Amino acid sequence: QKAEWEKLVNESSVTADGKHVELAANIGTPEDMTGVQSHGAEGIGLYRTEFLYMGRNELPDEEEQFNAYRSVVEPMNGKPVVIRTLDIGGDKELPYLDLPEEMNPFLGYRAIRLCLEETDMFRVQLRALLRASAYGNLKIMFPMVATLEEFREAKALLDEERQKLKSEGTDVSDDIEVGIMVEIPATAVHADIFAKEVDFFSIGTNDLIQYTLAVDRMSEKVSHLYQPYHPAVLRLVQQVITAAHNEGKWAGMCGEMAGEETAIPLLLGLGLDEFSMSATSVLPARSLIRSLSVEKMERLAAEALRKSTAEEVAELVREKVTSDE
Ligand code: PEP
Ligand code: MG
Repeated sequence: QKAEWEKLVNESSVTADGKHVELAANIGTPEDMTGVQSHGAEGIGLYRTEFLYMGRNELPDEEEQFNAYRSVVEPMNGKPVVIRTLDIGGDKELPYLDLPEEMNPFLGYRAIRLCLEETDMFRVQLRALLRASAYGNLKIMFPMVATLEEFREAKALLDEERQKLKSEGTDVSDDIEVGIMVEIPATAVHADIFAKEVDFFSIGTNDLIQYTLAVDRMSEKVSHLYQPYHPAVLRLVQQVITAAHNEGKWAGMCGEMAGEETAIPLLLGLGLDEFSMSATSVLPARSLIRSLSVEKMERLAAEALRKSTAEEVAELVREKVTSDE
């Protein structure tokens, strides 16, 4: 099977009935780029920039960040690279930031919430991203957005830095897409409104599942409730994709679910445009996608949305898809 997959490195991700989807990779550091190339990813759907900030005693400066972003964007030769702004807090802490102790860190001061307070720090990252945008197809994504005001505020800071850089004579791309992660149920429910203002959505199912089912993604005791195939989760995913398409925008997914064998047929049927996963999942996913028909998967997804339990959904996919491969 591995040999079969390897033949697909330079092939495109087209379904049996001719629809192209984008298979992208998630990365944590520029060193992950070798895996991206060797596994034939068509883009980067999530660059988790927090690793640049972690395991050290001070903030990375603009130059260091610019170099990191450029070293990811440039070798992709115009293929899309979605860079997520700092997603710190929750389970990830920074010793030099002196974050408050919280009872529920996953519901607390993290990601965009923190960046909109620590604007000096945030502006440095935005400037580095804007400068790197001149070297390829860079897209900017804000994490953990719960309200439209957060998105507008973050975008306003970005526009201010863009103006400053331009007046200094620095090269900045004029068509950077700016999108959000959909990780909070409110944002998924409200996706039709968000879709009018954002350029794209990327569904972060790792967090979206945890918040939708109120189940800590780190807790063993309740891990049976962490259900990607819960019909409620699928309905949220469907709403987000439909909302994006109604406004002519694209929707991707960068949570673990995007690379799962059981999820891919459903997501294809729901109309997902971009699947972003660990690089090692790209070729198996491409192989599966090439064997599926969108038309059939649309019927499968519609049936899945009417199921009562996650187990029934998984069973449906096994029965109709993965067993007869
Ligand atoms: C997610 O929440 O699905 C996601 C991709 O972000 P992270 O795993 O970094 O929280
Ligand atoms: Mg997340």
